[in-house]
Formats: sequence, structure tokens, C-alpha cells
Amino acid sequence: MAPELPICVDVLDRGHLHLEDLLGGDGAVVRGARICYQSTAKSDDADARLIRRLMQSSPRHNTVFEHAVFRWGVKCPIFVARQWMRHRIGSYNEKSLRYCVADREYYVPAGVEADSPYVQHMERSFDVYEELVSQGWKREQARAVLGSAVYTEFIWTVNAWSLMNWLEKRLDPHAQWEHRQYAEAALGIYRQAMPVTAAAFAEAVLKR
Ligand SMILES: Cc1cc2nc3c(=O)[nH]c(=O)nc-3n(C[C@H](O)[C@H](O)[C@H](O)COP(=O)(O)OP(=O)(O)OC[C@H]3O[C@@H](n4cnc5c(N)ncnc54)[C@H](O)[C@@H]3O)c2cc1C
Repeated sequence: MAPELPICVDVLDRGHLHLEDLLGGDGAVVRGARICYQSTAKSDDADARLIRRLMQSSPRHNTVFEHAVFRWGVKCPIFVARQWMRHRIGSYNEKSLRYCVADREYYVPAGVEADSPYVQHMERSFDVYEELVSQGWKREQARAVLGSAVYTEFIWTVNAWSLMNWLEKRLDPHAQWEHRQYAEAALGIYRQAMPVTAAAFAEAVLKR
């Protein structure tokens, strides 16, 4: 059954991950595979078994997973977005600080005190930024004084195959903890949106 959208999860102190739209789902993977064999399900669990087999096969029949497509709304620190956009197989559009004035919103790691040098620096950088904007500086130049902890927003349209590539890499313990929080949130949403494919992926690839 199609999930009710959007599915929204808060991430970090001020970020979020929203599943805004979904094309296909587990059924799209089955459709992609069954057209190859011109086959139909012969039992109630045949489609689920097919997806598990496709996920476990080596080499994997990857293109069948490309028929399910997600559009995510993301709010994350710029340093996370910069890593995220290294993932080229997907489409992005991001809030522009050429056109918009930056909100005074930045990531503060848990446990960092309000009077810490980190927070003082971020506040001071926003003071300077706002002063430059009020003096008539171009926003695209004034933004240069802001740090990469500032929150940005983007939308990301990605197929399930590329999503799983991102999940595998960004759930890895070597990936940055802040980025992993978004990947964990996405895996939870993936399990709701495409329960059979996501469970098969978690079992066969993530081993969890
Ligand atoms: C823990 C970690 C640390 C990292 N550290 C660094 C770092 O220090 N510096 C740095 O620069 N990057 C770093 N990266 C980014 C990494 O190198 C990849 O750019 C990023 O993970 C995107 O992976 P991808 O290319 O598989 O994804 P996508 O760009 O989405 O590509 C998906 C797949 O498509 C294929 N593909 C896409 N484009 C091409 C192409 N041009 N040629 C051939 N095949 C292609 C590949 O099979 C690829 O796996 C790091 C990533 C991780 C997870």
C-alpha cells in the first residue's frame, strides 16, 4: 500500500528529512523485473521472493531498482550538503544565498555551550553578514563570511538504486556522524515507503 506523504523526520538540532513524493515503490521493481521474463506472480509471496532474489544476486540486476523514484526535501548543515552532492546520480535544487537572505540558523553539536567560541563565532559571523547586507553588499558576496555549519535546504530526486548506493556509503561507520543521522532517517523512511525492497537491502547489503 502506498504510504501517506509527506513522511517527515527531524534530524540534528534544526534539520529535517521529508519524503515529499514517491513514484513506484516495491511494485515498480517487480514490474521492471517481470517484463524481462514476461512472467506473473504465481503465489502471494512470489513478488517479495523475487525482490529478495534480485537483491542477493551477484552481479545484481541493478536497473530494476531504478523504476522507483523518490523526491526528498532536506534541511541540513552546508558541510553535510556538500558531501551529499558528491552523489551525482540524482537531481538537486538548493536554496540560493545569492537570491535569499540567510536565516540565522546553524548547527550546534550536542553539548556545545551557548558561550562557547563555536557559538560566539557563528553569531559574530551573522552579525557581520547582516551588517554587510544592510550596507548594500550583494548577498552572493556577503555570504562568504558565513561558516559551513549554516543550514541549507535542497530537494533531491533519486531512484532507489542510487538511494541505496548513498545509504550504503553514508551509513558506514566511516561516514561523518552528522551525515549518518540523515542516512539513518532515510533508511527508516525507505522501510515505510518500500518495505520489501528496503528489508531485502538491509539484510543482503547492510547485514542488519
Ligand atoms: C566515508 C567517505 C569519505 C569520503 N571522503 C572523500 C574525500 O576525502 N574526498 C572526496 O573527494 N570525496 C570523498 N568521498 C566521496 C566519494 O568519493 C564519492 O564521491 C561519493 O561517496 C559518491 O559516491 P558515488 O560516486 O558512488 O555516487 P554517485 O556519484 O551517485 O555515483 C553512483 C555510481 O555511478 C557510477 N558513476 C557515477 N559517475 C561516474 C563516472 N564519472 N565514471 C564512472 N562511473 C560513474 C559509479 O558506479 C558510482 O558508484 C567520501 C565518501 C565517503 C562515503
